[in-house]
Amino acid sequence: MFTSLSFTAASGQRSDRSVTEDDRPLTAVLRECDQQHVWHAFTQMQEYEPLLIERGEGCWLIDTEGHRYLDGSASMWCNVHGHRHPRLDTALISQLGKVAHTTNLGLSNPTTVEFARRLVEIMPVGLTRIFFSDDGSTAIEAALKIAFQFWLQADRDRPQRRTKFVAIGDAYHGDTLGAIGIGGVDRFTALFMPLTFDAIRVPSPGGPDHATSAATPSCAEALAHLERIFVEHAGDIAAMVMEPLMQAAGGILVHPVGYLCGVRELTKKYDILLILDEVATGFGRTGSMFACQQEQVSPDILCLAKGLTAGYLPMAATVTTDRVWDAFLGAHAERRTFFHGHTYGGNPLAAAVGLESLNLFRDERLLDQLPAKIDRLREHADRIARLNHVGDVRQCGLTAGFDLVVDKASRTPFPWQEQRGMQACRAARRHGALLRPLGDVVVIMPPLSITLDELDRLCAATERGIQDATTRAADLSSAPSPAP
Ligand SMILES: *Cc1c(COP(=O)(O)O)cnc(C)c1O
Repeated sequence: MFTSLSFTAASGQRSDRSVTEDDRPLTAVLRECDQQHVWHAFTQMQEYEPLLIERGEGCWLIDTEGHRYLDGSASMWCNVHGHRHPRLDTALISQLGKVAHTTNLGLSNPTTVEFARRLVEIMPVGLTRIFFSDDGSTAIEAALKIAFQFWLQADRDRPQRRTKFVAIGDAYHGDTLGAIGIGGVDRFTALFMPLTFDAIRVPSPGGPDHATSAATPSCAEALAHLERIFVEHAGDIAAMVMEPLMQAAGGILVHPVGYLCGVRELTKKYDILLILDEVATGFGRTGSMFACQQEQVSPDILCLAKGLTAGYLPMAATVTTDRVWDAFLGAHAERRTFFHGHTYGGNPLAAAVGLESLNLFRDERLLDQLPAKIDRLREHADRIARLNHVGDVRQCGLTAGFDLVVDKASRTPFPWQEQRGMQACRAARRHGALLRPLGDVVVIMPPLSITLDELDRLCAATERGIQDATTRAADLSSAPSPAP
């Protein structure tokens, strides 16, 4: 079988007509193989039905049988300039001609250094020092450990052992143990809580708390609550951690204007570090390069991943200030070193493509094109909001979330077991769009390079998917194919 796979690639034959040595269609063999051997993330493997994406072109993804789909989730929120962008591909290939990987443990590489310099140029003020790792979760783990160690070392005469972190309800910061300690999406994390630490949680001003069903606090209430926590635990809190403007995985929960800068003021007043997780919101997603720039906020630590390499390769960055960096300086024997690292941190291939992505932001004036796209998405969202089974609709930049509900007036949710969100996304495939829901929230989060015409098509497919999945019985048959 693998001989024929490589034969297919070498001959450039269309794979939907490819057959394996025993004359079975290649796609059928691959699907079976996938089901047998690949354990997919966040997926119930007993119910999993493979869809094999073989190629990408701009905002389109193409499966092994030649069906085309708009990439409505930006390949899990990370694609920026579309797939197979010629300049990104060239940057990657040219770096391959030098070296694919060398370690950044005590060594460096010209491409990674140049990428760091260019990143610092576009950072919110004061963020000058970059710790590279490989995923959003690892950017967060590094941030938590840096914050803890910072307080031990900031004042040489008076080490502070601050072990607490404050996080927001329904927050999502990744799936590693430290990241779930500050996470608040209970359906992902509750099971594992005995293995990790528990952050101090404050209610989200962006939507109802799914764990407690408490009402959404106003901006002023949320800030007052936060201040009480800061007063109560003064001296124990290492950092406040949050996703600025929008809590993505929590269900596209959008914060009221002023919350972020209110949090920044309070963290300054009580001398608590502010860690902003811009893994999802960074690199243009909310309309500005970084979400925190919309409220003129600079954190003490900024976490980046997803869009950092425009969705090409895994890479993450934990960016911090001179103040934090200085606390780690000293002679080796003083033991002030940050003893933490990841094998592929600062990988030159990822840095090469990240660097070229920054050039593309500049040369293609991508941020300037966003307002028109964001407005167009809003028009579509307003229309979709009128559907009978759509409750709240939330938008932040080029992202929208649609709550599916049984009853519009009372906002009664569907029984979660019916997986209406997943069904709507499966149905949208037939209309030519790939989407990924968050529970019963249907999410549109396309590459930023999407054209207005493609956005129209994506929203039409989403609307039809929602209609198909909410107006029929729960057991809608899944994943039939769209017209090629
Ligand atoms: C995706 C995400 C993470 C985790 O990133 P991974 O690369 O999946 O580890 C962390 N924080 C936010 C806000 C995210 O959206």
